[in-house]
Amino acid sequence: MKRLAIVHYDEIALKGKNRGFFERALVDNIQNKLGSEFDVKNSWGRIFVHNIDEVEDKLKEVLSTTPGVATFGLGFSTTRRNLVVEEISEIAIKIAEDTQFESFKISARRADKTFPKTSNELEREVGEIVFEHHKREKRVDLKKPDLEIVVEVLQKEVVVYAKQRSIGGLPVGSSGRAIALLSGGFDSPVAAYMLAKRGVRPVCVHFHGMPKTSPAAVEKVRALACQLARYTGKAELVLVPIVPAMQAIARGAPAKLRIVLLRRVMLQISERLAKRYKASAIITGDSVGQVASQTLENLYAVGSATALPVLRPLCGFNKLEIIELAKEVGTHDISVKPHDDTCSMFVPDKPETRAKMEEVLEAEKTYNVEEIIEAALTNMESENCT
Ligand code: ATP
Ligand code: MG
Repeated sequence: MKRLAIVHYDEIALKGKNRGFFERALVDNIQNKLGSEFDVKNSWGRIFVHNIDEVEDKLKEVLSTTPGVATFGLGFSTTRRNLVVEEISEIAIKIAEDTQFESFKISARRADKTFPKTSNELEREVGEIVFEHHKREKRVDLKKPDLEIVVEVLQKEVVVYAKQRSIGGLPVGSSGRAIALLSGGFDSPVAAYMLAKRGVRPVCVHFHGMPKTSPAAVEKVRALACQLARYTGKAELVLVPIVPAMQAIARGAPAKLRIVLLRRVMLQISERLAKRYKASAIITGDSVGQVASQTLENLYAVGSATALPVLRPLCGFNKLEIIELAKEVGTHDISVKPHDDTCSMFVPDKPETRAKMEEVLEAEKTYNVEEIIEAALTNMESENCT
C-alpha cells in the first residue's frame, strides 16, 4: 500500500483538443509549488502526487490553493490483484480515523469496468463495513456528508482517499499574462485573484507616492503580492514612482480632471509594461459607482487611454461583497491596515464624475505623456514574491 494524493480537475476536462495543454500547465504549476522532491504525474484524467510521506500540511496547502484543482484527496493506493471489499474497507476505516466526522458517504468510480463489482455495490458494501466499524454511531449522508471517502478503481490499482474541495478554475498561465494594478486597498488583490483563477498570470504593478508617502504603503502591496503568490506560485511585483506624473498633471490640467488623468497615465504606463512583460490585458479593482472615478463615463474616459482590454472582474460587486471575498482569499487582513493613499493628496474638492473625452484629451496636451512614461520605466523597480 502506497501513500499518495490524487487531484481532479473539472473545467479542463471540457477543453477538447487543447486538453493536453491545460493538463500539462496544471501538472507544472503543482510541481513548481511543491518542489522537485515530489513526483507529480497525469494519467487517467487525474493527477497523482507520489512521495508524500510526512509532508501532508504542505501538500494540503498547495492543493487547496492551486487554480485548476477542483477536488483532491490524500489517501492510499493498493494493487488490484485479488483485492477484496474487506481490504478496501480497511483502508477507508484507516482514512476515517484521522478525521472528525458525524456523517459520511462512500463514493466509488470505476475507470476500468472489468472490476468484478459495480460502483453501486462497492459503495454499499464498503459503506456497510465502515458503518458497523463505528458501531452504527455515524450517519450515512449522501447529500452533504462531513466526510466523503472515494474509492477509485483504476486499471492496476485501487485508490482510496478522503475528498476535499479546492478552488477550481483554470491553471495559472494557461490564459496568458496580464498587468494587475495593485493599490493596497481591498479591491485590487481580489480582482487579480479572480483572474488568476481564470488562468491569467498576474504581473503586479503598484504606483507609489514615495518620497511623499511612507514606505509602509509599498510594504503593504508587497505583502499582498506575496499572498497572491500563494495561489500563483510566484508573483512579479513592479514598483513605479508616480509623483512626477502627479506633478506634471497638477501643473496645467483642470483640477477636476486630475484623477481621470492620473488613472489614464497609470494605464498608459501599464500598456508599455505589458509589452515588456508579454502581458495582453490590464486588471483593475474598479467597481461601478464605488467612487467618482468609477462612473461609466469615467471608466470610458480612463479605459480609452489604452488599446489593451481592461479587465474589471469586480464591476458588479459592492464593497461588502468584495470584503467577504478578500477574507476568503486571505488579503483582507493586509488590506485593512491603514496606509497613505498615493492619490489622496491629489484628489480635488469636486472631482469630475462625467468626464468628456474632448476635455480629457485637451487637458492631456498640458503635459508630455511620452516623457512621463519614459521616466516611469527608467525609475521602476521589480522584485519577485514566492
Ligand atoms: P482598491 O481598489 O485596491 O481597493 P481603491 O478602491 O482605493 O483601492 P481606486 O482608487 O478605486 O482604488 O482605484 C481603482 C483601481 O485602480 C484599483 O482597484 C487599482 O486596480 C487601480 N489603482 C488605483 N491606485 C493605484 C496605485 N497607486 N497603484 C496601482 N494601481 C492602482
Ligand atoms: Mg476601489
